[in-house]
Amino acid sequence: MNAAPIVVVGRSTAGCAAVRELRALGHDEEVVMIGADPDGSYSRPPLSKHVLDSDDGMSSRWDLSDLGITELNSAATRLNTDSKIVALADGTDVEYGTLVVATGADARRLARVDQAGELVVRTHDDARVLRSRLDAASSAIIVGAGFLGMEIASACVRRTIETTVVDVDPPLERVLGRFLAAAIAERLAENGGSMLRPAGPVTLSGSPVDGIVLPDRTVLHADVVVSCVGEVPASDWLDGTGVADRDGVGIGEDCSTSVPDVFAAGDVTYFREPSRYPRRGPFWSNAVAQGRVAAASALGAAARCAPVDDYFWTEVLGLSIKAVGPLPLVGEPEILTGSVDDASALLRWAHPDGRKTLVAYGLRMSVGKLRALAGAEQGQG
Ligand SMILES: Cc1cc2nc3c(=O)[nH]c(=O)nc-3n(C[C@H](O)[C@H](O)[C@H](O)COP(=O)(O)OP(=O)(O)OC[C@H]3O[C@@H](n4cnc5c(N)ncnc54)[C@H](O)[C@@H]3O)c2cc1C
Repeated sequence: MNAAPIVVVGRSTAGCAAVRELRALGHDEEVVMIGADPDGSYSRPPLSKHVLDSDDGMSSRWDLSDLGITELNSAATRLNTDSKIVALADGTDVEYGTLVVATGADARRLARVDQAGELVVRTHDDARVLRSRLDAASSAIIVGAGFLGMEIASACVRRTIETTVVDVDPPLERVLGRFLAAAIAERLAENGGSMLRPAGPVTLSGSPVDGIVLPDRTVLHADVVVSCVGEVPASDWLDGTGVADRDGVGIGEDCSTSVPDVFAAGDVTYFREPSRYPRRGPFWSNAVAQGRVAAASALGAAARCAPVDDYFWTEVLGLSIKAVGPLPLVGEPEILTGSVDDASALLRWAHPDGRKTLVAYGLRMSVGKLRALAGAEQGQG
């Protein structure tokens, strides 16, 4: 009798990295991949960068047909870790020998249960819906000035929509620090957008949603209101198993969970203490790195890479910003080349522990080159 297969639940960045790594490591037995998104396997970063302009931006669908895996298109609804069964919404029970949880996250929402029409961008379908709303909009409010909010605000100002970004903190400050946040806020203003910094959290008005309510109860209306306020690990299907808690799936540096034969990767995870890494890093390159580590661990092999990759990028207001090295950034950088005012600079931050972060701000530079430069910097550290 054949051993039960490795089952990967979630077929986006982390899940696809895991199945590719399983095959790269020579695992030629059955692999089952379970996915819930009717649009299949695709990378999310283009959704807020190019797909809001046109569907041609959606070139990053992944074709896994060369891997010889079994793909099941139905949501996992329950896990039984005693019988080692994943139950699917379509009634199928899938037995696993080893399980990789890669169900990512859902957009965090602000709407009350009685409020309809909240816009978020997490899936291809969300991006399509927002694009068609933007086609008819002349004003937009973006709640949240993280990378997602700023990318969506960029799409709005490109369309000359009157755009207001609302956040208690300056744009991207929680990741890129005060220095770049100030430069990005200035650029938002230059591009015709505005930043509103209320004293506290805002709520949504109307149903369907038609605006926001500020802490002082002032209501601001816009044709389009988009919530970009973070993500919530997609772990409901693991309830009662001990695999997940309210923060998601706790993992060790080998991507093992607290339950035998269950590994996890990507946005659904956080590092259990103690770890030398930040607790959570819901970024694309971390999902790839963890997918690969989870696959190696599922095979009982030592991983060839770390479960965290220190590369992050975004595209804001016509600028590409690439960072290699620890985040968040604090304090002033050293300007190695160019100038921030001219929107083309190579910047270096030195961290108290001696590590460095290099940022290509609007500067044309490949990831490979930036990584090589950052590697040389750490050597000097
Ligand atoms: C619009 C957008 C832009 C982004 N841009 C950047 C960027 O520029 N740079 C960067 O570093 N990061 C970016 N990110 C973050 C990055 O995309 C995520 O870190 C990455 O997608 C995480 O991959 P994942 O596979 O862990 O989770 P996800 O991408 O969330 O994928 C999880 C998959 O699991 C499926 N799933 C969920 N529940 C179930 C279930 N019960 N049963 C079966 N399947 C299930 C989902 O349908 C989905 O396909 C962006 C994210 C978004 C939303």
